[in-house]
Parts: sequence; C-alpha cells; structure tokens
Amino acid sequence: MKIHQYDVVIVGAGGAGMRAAIEAGQRTRTAVLTKLYPTRSHTGAAQGGMCAALANVEEDNWEWHTFDTIKGGDYLVDQDAAEVMAKEAIDAVLDLEKMGLPFNRTPEGKIDQRRFGGHTRDHGKAPVRRACYAADRTGHMILQTLYQNCVKHGVEFYNEFYVLDLILTEVDGRRRVAGVVAYELATGELHIFQSKSVVFATGGVGKVFKTTSNAHTLTGDGMAVAYRRGIPLEDMEFFQFHPTGLAGLGILLSEAARGEGGILRNADGERFMERYAPTIKDLAPRDIVARSMANEVREGRGAGPNKDYVLLDLTHLEPEHIDAKLPDITEFARTYLGVEPYTEPVPVFPTAHYAMGGIPTNVDSEVLADNDTVIPGLFAAGEVACVSVHGSNRLGTNSLLDINVFGKRAGKAAAAYAAGADYVELPEAPETEIAATLESLRTSDGSENIAAIRKDLQDIMDANVQVFRTEQTLREALDVIATLRERYANVGIHDRGKRFNLDLLEAVELGFLLELAEVITVSALHRKESRGGHFREDYEKRDDENFMHHTMAYLDPESEAEGVRGVRLDTKPVVVTRYQPMERKY
Ligand SMILES: Cc1cc2nc3c(=O)[nH]c(=O)nc-3n(C[C@H](O)[C@H](O)[C@H](O)COP(=O)(O)OP(=O)(O)OC[C@H]3O[C@@H](n4cnc5c(N)ncnc54)[C@H](O)[C@@H]3O)c2cc1C
Repeated sequence: MKIHQYDVVIVGAGGAGMRAAIEAGQRTRTAVLTKLYPTRSHTGAAQGGMCAALANVEEDNWEWHTFDTIKGGDYLVDQDAAEVMAKEAIDAVLDLEKMGLPFNRTPEGKIDQRRFGGHTRDHGKAPVRRACYAADRTGHMILQTLYQNCVKHGVEFYNEFYVLDLILTEVDGRRRVAGVVAYELATGELHIFQSKSVVFATGGVGKVFKTTSNAHTLTGDGMAVAYRRGIPLEDMEFFQFHPTGLAGLGILLSEAARGEGGILRNADGERFMERYAPTIKDLAPRDIVARSMANEVREGRGAGPNKDYVLLDLTHLEPEHIDAKLPDITEFARTYLGVEPYTEPVPVFPTAHYAMGGIPTNVDSEVLADNDTVIPGLFAAGEVACVSVHGSNRLGTNSLLDINVFGKRAGKAAAAYAAGADYVELPEAPETEIAATLESLRTSDGSENIAAIRKDLQDIMDANVQVFRTEQTLREALDVIATLRERYANVGIHDRGKRFNLDLLEAVELGFLLELAEVITVSALHRKESRGGHFREDYEKRDDENFMHHTMAYLDPESEAEGVRGVRLDTKPVVVTRYQPMERKY
C-alpha cells in the first residue's frame, strides 16, 4: 500500500479545486487528486459567464446582486453567504484577469458585461449587465487559466486518481480528517493520502437524469463518499433544470443566447414569457422559465411533430453578433440538430443542469457534521457543496462565481488549518472496506448490467422527479430506485483486469448515483410545498410557515424517512439577515 503525505489534499481539479489549489499551493504542500485530467473537468464546458457587480457598462452594486441571488433562490438562500459571494465577486473576477484570463472587452478596454436571467437593476426593476464573459467559452478560459497558474505555483497533480473513501478518525470524542483513499486508474492500485486538510471539490451529479447538460463523469462522487461516512447532504431536492437544452438531447445552449436578445416562442410564434414574467420575460430565473416552457408543451402549444419542445429564436440578431458572442452554441445547433440559427429557430426543452444541494458548509467552506458542528480539517467547495448561496434555484453565472469565491476561501482555510495542526493517526488498514467492495465488484458473476440499470434510473428520474413532481410520481420513483438497488447488488462487469478498468469504476459510480437519486427523491417527498426548482403539483404554493428551512439528509440504518429505510431527515434554519421572504414576482 502506497502512503503519501501532504498538508492539503484537494479532491477534484475543476474550477473550485484548482482555485483552492492556487491558494493552498502557495502556502503549503498541496496535492490535487482528480479522476479526470484537470482541463477535462466540467467547468471547461461552462459557456455564458461569471457575474460580478463591476458596473463596467451599467450602474450596479453588490447589494443588488445579493438581493437578486436571494430572490432568485426563492428565499432559501443563507443571506450571510450570499453577501459574502456578491461582495467578493468583484475581486474574484479581477483575480482571474490578473492571472491572464482573456475576458471580452468594451471599446474602452474594460471587461465587458452582459445580461443573464434574474440579474436586475435596483431590486428587480429591469435586467442589468452583470455577467463577465469570454464569448460563450467562459468556463474553458477559467479552467485553462487556473490550470496554468497551478502549474506555475508547483501544485502536484495526481491525474486519473479516483477518491473512493474519506478517512475520518475520532480524536477526543470528535471526528477529524485523517486523509482519503484513492484508486489509480492506470494500475488498479489503491493509495492512501494522509493529510491534515482535505478539500472536496468533485462537482455535480447531473447523471442521475437522462436529459442533462452534464458530462458523463458527473456522478456525485464527493457527495456520496461523504454521505456514506455519516456527513449529511443539504437541500438535495433542489435540482435545476436549465430551460434551453437542445430538444431531445439535453446539450446546453447558454442563457447568454437570451442575454444577447434571443426569444422563446411556442408553436404559434407567441413570445409566451410575456405572460409568465411580464417585467423581465425571457430573462426570468431558470426555474420559472423551465416551468413555463413545460407548461406550454403540456397545454398543447409545443412545436415540432410531437409538439414536445419550444423554440429559441435568434433570427432577429445580426449573424456577425451571433458569431462574435455565441459561436460555440450556435455551432451545437448546426451539428446536433441540423438547424441554422441565423435563419431558423432552435428546438429547445429543459435539461437537468445543476445541483443546488450538496455537502453542507459554512462560509469558510468548512464541512458541517450536523447543523453547526464543524469537522476539523474537512472542507468542500463548488457544486459538490451547499453553502447555501443558491437556495432553491441558482441564478445563471453564479456558479462560476461560487467556485471562484468559495474555492479561494477553501484553499486559504485548508492551508491555515494545516499550518496549525498535526497529522491525525491513520486507522489500521483504512483501505479495507473499499478494497473489499472493489474486489467483489471486479470478480462478481452477477447477471445485471451497469448500463441497463443506469438507463432505468435515468428514465424514472426524468419521468417522475423532473420539473413537475407529485407525491405519486415521487413514490413510484422510490419504488423503482429500490428495485434498481436490488439489481445493483447482483451487477456483473466484463473487465476483470486491473489496468484502466473503467467498467469497474462505472459500477462504483452507478452505486453513487443510485444512492443520491434516493436522497433527492426522499427529500423531494418531504418538501410538501413548491419553491424554486422544486415544484409539487399537489402543493403548488410556497409554504414559509412549514418549510422555510433547509433539508438535511443523513444515512442512518436505524431510521426511516418517507417510508425509506436507512435515511434520516432533519431540518436546518435558513439564515435571514436583511431580506424578509416576499412573494416572488418578475
Ligand atoms: C454545459 C454547462 C454550462 C455551464 N455554464 C455555466 C455558466 O456559463 N456560468 C456558470 O456560472 N455556471 C455554468 N455552469 C455550471 C458550472 O460550470 C459548474 O457548476 C461548475 O463549473 C462546477 O465546478 P466544480 O469545480 O465544482 O466541478 P467540476 O468542474 O465538475 O470539477 C469536478 C472535478 O472533480 C473531479 N472528481 C470528481 N469525482 C472524483 C473522484 N471520485 N475522485 C477524484 N476526482 C474526482 C473531476 O475529475 C473534476 O476535476 C455550466 C455547467 C454546464 C454543465
């Protein structure tokens, strides 16, 4: 068994992980473990922008940004955290600029800014230009810039290392971090990384759904590993469905398309968002637009032969403007649907996009073992975490911001903690459990097939836990998930080898997906109200009296929640500083 020692170990080399690594790497011995090559992380697929109230092109300030974030999240946002993010946004953008990121510029040479959903001037009066961008490749530029700077600061990368377990040890009655167990793809060997601090930055879990903008690798590993070690998951019922996925495929067309003037129309050519959000129309927050689109289709105003999508119309924009500001996504429409956006509207429908929930942390990115107990040495940032700055619905461009602000905070805090702490002693053979799981999967004669189970999971999640939910659809989904978990116990794989055994890792990832799908659905069943991305047709109203709280889900063999054995649900108060919940109108 190889044992490595680092002051700080960061799990994940997306935007959050690498932003953390830049801070930690300048202060202390830091390693980044990542299952993908860093520049293949999903942050690189992000398109439209990263927001900050720079006020470069229009009047703006961080207080308006805070308010928009809270209102956009339907008042489930922890307001202290939203204030931190909106204030630090400005430096987060300037940090990237100094690191060399090629933002689009105004004629005067300032960083240019454009509109995005839910970002408004003066508390909702009109859309404001707040998103900084590099054409529609903002995430790509962020990821490359961060990687180059990690290299410059001598951060060590362990590429294609899958972290499959977290080592927590009890010291004086309190759980502390001792390190992680990682699987090396090339050799099939397990490695122990002993470290004083661990930062989880493993990204999202979009692959529980079939129609999704997320990459194949977004299987919620960090969330599942933490959950299995007794750490709660917060607000998992809130999943964002992005309005404009390419119809039938889910590939994302950035909201920047609407920010640049694109319009959604139904089969009759009607700009239907005028009915749903009269003030900011197509630039309403994503939950509202996605639901409005789904509603148009339900009521028979969908376009296409099956009337099952709506149309994104860019035809009134100048082709030169489209080429300059939206080159990649218009190319997607040509390549994948054979549609020419200069002259034809593009078929679109909501696609599973972003997990608002995740591992609970405070504003210093410290992971919480319950509502307020910090686990010393353990940090989380990015989509895997729930700070909670997005509440029940994230605004566009707030995630690239989140990963930079809280990635930086996590890196600093992890290095500071490591500077004052000793290594926690490793337990005897900490790899035993995960080694046994891997061995039994690798040698199993089971008759069940990974891809088939995953497909059935994704189908039921798309059908029953999507934009519209009811008690009945959620219960059905839980029944199916329970059967799939039984089938999973009998899963067999083809590749019995040790080298580059992706078959084996997909089996492990499927285990994560099944577990997280259950948590999402149980949490959704518990929340008998509609708020943000979670819409219950049987409880259509937001219910602040009974549900103005975060959901905390724990793995607990002794408990039962909503009829599901092994899950315990608890609640956590929402932090309200300045903005009392109000009706959400746009
Ligand atoms: C198509 C698309 C477009 C988007 N556009 C925008 C946008 O314009 N603006 C915006 O604000 N947001 C956007 N988002 C959302 C945003 O990009 C993501 O939420 C954000 O980039 C997530 O960053 P992250 O660092 O948390 O995770 P990721 O970038 O997903 O990185 C996760 C990292 O964790 C590693 N990892 C995962 N599991 C393991 C494991 N078991 N062991 C080791 N390593 C592991 C991976 O290798 C990877 O390096 C978009 C998302 C998508 C999918």
